[in-house]
Amino acid sequence: GQPLLTVRGLRKYFPIRGGILGRTRAMVQAVDGVSFEVRKGETLGIVGESGCGKSTTARLAVGLIERDEGDIIFDGDALGDTLSLRELRRGIQMVFQDSYASLNPRLTIEESVAFGARVQGLSDPMGRAHGLLARVGLDPARFAQRYPHELSGGQRQRVNIARALAMSPRLVVLDEAVSALDKSVEAQVLNLLSDLRAEFGLTYIFISHDLNVVRYISDRVLVMYLGEVVEVAPVDAIWARQAHPYTRSLFSAMPSMDPDNRTEEPPLTGDPPNPIDPPEGCRFHTRCPFAATLCGRKVPKLRKIGADGHLAACHLHDPASGHPKAGKIA
Ligand code: SF4
Ligand code: MG
Repeated sequence: GQPLLTVRGLRKYFPIRGGILGRTRAMVQAVDGVSFEVRKGETLGIVGESGCGKSTTARLAVGLIERDEGDIIFDGDALGDTLSLRELRRGIQMVFQDSYASLNPRLTIEESVAFGARVQGLSDPMGRAHGLLARVGLDPARFAQRYPHELSGGQRQRVNIARALAMSPRLVVLDEAVSALDKSVEAQVLNLLSDLRAEFGLTYIFISHDLNVVRYISDRVLVMYLGEVVEVAPVDAIWARQAHPYTRSLFSAMPSMDPDNRTEEPPLTGDPPNPIDPPEGCRFHTRCPFAATLCGRKVPKLRKIGADGHLAACHLHDPASGHPKAGKIA
């Protein structure tokens, strides 16, 4: 499909304080040169360890955090050119892990959902809110007048979804949106999200640390490590073959991974390196079982390693730089 959102060379540095009395200032490179596209009607999953920049990448891409560098193009319009920040944000909604976060505790849920319709100047906002509540599985007769604290986590997340839909978004960013839910509720909400995507013609960015959930809902997957994209692939392709050693470790650490697809990589040990001072060359080289001298010197670029846009950033897949340990990865 056509891209709905394209980002190129996104960069963000955050100043942090450290040292005695917090006087030392350093810059954390939270997102470094990230490029990807989200196609109309698809779900793009983003995976990686916590702190790898998944959420920051999504927030940058939708204008919730100001980028230091990079292009953001939404449906053909470039931010800062033919697209304003307001217009970008209007087309994109977010649902977070904490189901309380975006709900005003003093508003009944019908008021929270109707707010979106009011902002857009749509007629009959309350009628629309009730329609959306019913659509996400909350009978308005029972739920419309309740307050957020009177609902379960799953019910509150349904309200958040209805609230996002009330803004008539084209893209919804789901940031660990089902991660706090019980497994059975999680499955119900995932099914609901899939149905709504088709029904409302939505596009999703789905951020999760849970690979099984990502596989269930996503069409393509973006794997991030220390603020960079290391692999992108259609879901089936990456489940069949993880090209990047980091992706392999991530998948092999998955307890319920299908044994047929399980790689023999040792699970990741240790913490990711300090993002204030990321390793030179390939950022994964300090933890990579295949690392060779070249890996600490040269930054691997994302390149095509298979059909259907399967890309990976690893010298093992770069004939031009010479394979550090050729043959060790299929
Ligand atoms: Fe490992 Fe080198 Fe590939 Fe980085 S470039 S993932 S260190 S083999
Ligand atoms: Mg996060």
